[in-house]
Amino acid sequence: MKENEIRQEAEQVLLHTYNRYSLVLDRGEGVYLYDVEGKKYLDFAAGIAVQALGYHYPGYDEALKAQIDKLMHISNLYYSVPMEEAARKLVKVSGMSRVFFTNSGTEAIEGALKAARRYSYNKYGEGRSEIIAMKHSFHGRSMGALSVTGNEKYQIPFRPLVGGVRFALYNDLESVKAQINEKTCAIILETIQGEGGIYPADPEFLQGIRTLCDEQDLIMILDEIQCGMGRTGHLFAWQGYGVEPDIMTSAKALGCGVPVGAFLLNERAAASSLGPGDHGTTYGGNPFVCAAAAAVLDLFERDGIVEHVGEISVYLEERLDQLAEKFPCISCRRGRGLMQGLVIQGRPVGEIVVKSLAEGLIVITAGSDVLRLVPPLIIEREHVDEMVEKLSRALET
Ligand SMILES: *Cc1c(COP(=O)(O)O)cnc(C)c1O
Repeated sequence: MKENEIRQEAEQVLLHTYNRYSLVLDRGEGVYLYDVEGKKYLDFAAGIAVQALGYHYPGYDEALKAQIDKLMHISNLYYSVPMEEAARKLVKVSGMSRVFFTNSGTEAIEGALKAARRYSYNKYGEGRSEIIAMKHSFHGRSMGALSVTGNEKYQIPFRPLVGGVRFALYNDLESVKAQINEKTCAIILETIQGEGGIYPADPEFLQGIRTLCDEQDLIMILDEIQCGMGRTGHLFAWQGYGVEPDIMTSAKALGCGVPVGAFLLNERAAASSLGPGDHGTTYGGNPFVCAAAAAVLDLFERDGIVEHVGEISVYLEERLDQLAEKFPCISCRRGRGLMQGLVIQGRPVGEIVVKSLAEGLIVITAGSDVLRLVPPLIIEREHVDEMVEKLSRALET
């Protein structure tokens, strides 16, 4: 089938919940993707911050293939070596104390919300169940995750949502304080807001939330699904702030392409939270996905991926700042590490994405006016230069 035939056929059978770009992608190699007609694209989206190791990274495929030959799935009624390994490694690198594996980011959020409410219920009984979330946040599309996603466009058609959620302004500690009452049990936020438009938390804001949570025995949930797994130059973005959450969520790059997420609890939260029978999943953390997560953590360590992000992102920021100076349609740059946004003014950001695709560069948007760059963490200077060249051409036309 030709590219346009594949598109047409797909649109006849898929539920139309995405306005997809026209690409029909076929294979990947390193930091490049190829469509079915052989056109090559430099990938600065990484499947939305998932493919941290790019495509066919040495050691990754081998680990997955070996696990396929052994065992894919057993359910959570039994133990497996990959699950034990992935959990042990994740606990070690995060400094948290307990892990629950999920199939997606959304499910990690669901679990984190339940764990927070269960903590409060165990200690204070019924009624102390309110959650404070942030405007412009994104935590997923299921009813629970959507209920803490501060975006009315996503929420309104699906009301009533899960009750007991109040919204505060990101990076505005007073607005958070104003939402706290005797029923509050948790505060949830992204360490760096992704979908909302790439807004990093101010250090004082994050520290302030930590202090509020300590003073009032609230659970601080940090959503690290997009900004975690090395993207900011720290394995988890909060490690760069020195502010520890009580519960954190991970997904996206955790499996570098296989669907695996997790929520992790520190000792305090774990000591009085979900117990036997409180939560479950059939697939979550099966041997196959855990072999992937364990391999990803090993490869990150083996090859110093996080350190590499710290180095290469200095160059990326420098080149992006030059672009922002040169092109008046870029009003500013925001971000940390390899999670960067260019704020576009005076023209639709979607148009720049489409023009970039024509130039052979894959970029995506965030919020209504931000061009988002979340490349594989293994990019080198030459890839940054190639991106700047292609993006410049897209901006010029
Ligand atoms: C992508 C994302 C989610 C949802 O993850 P899914 O795997 O799509 O369910 C939640 N929170 C943040 C910050 C995300 O970027």
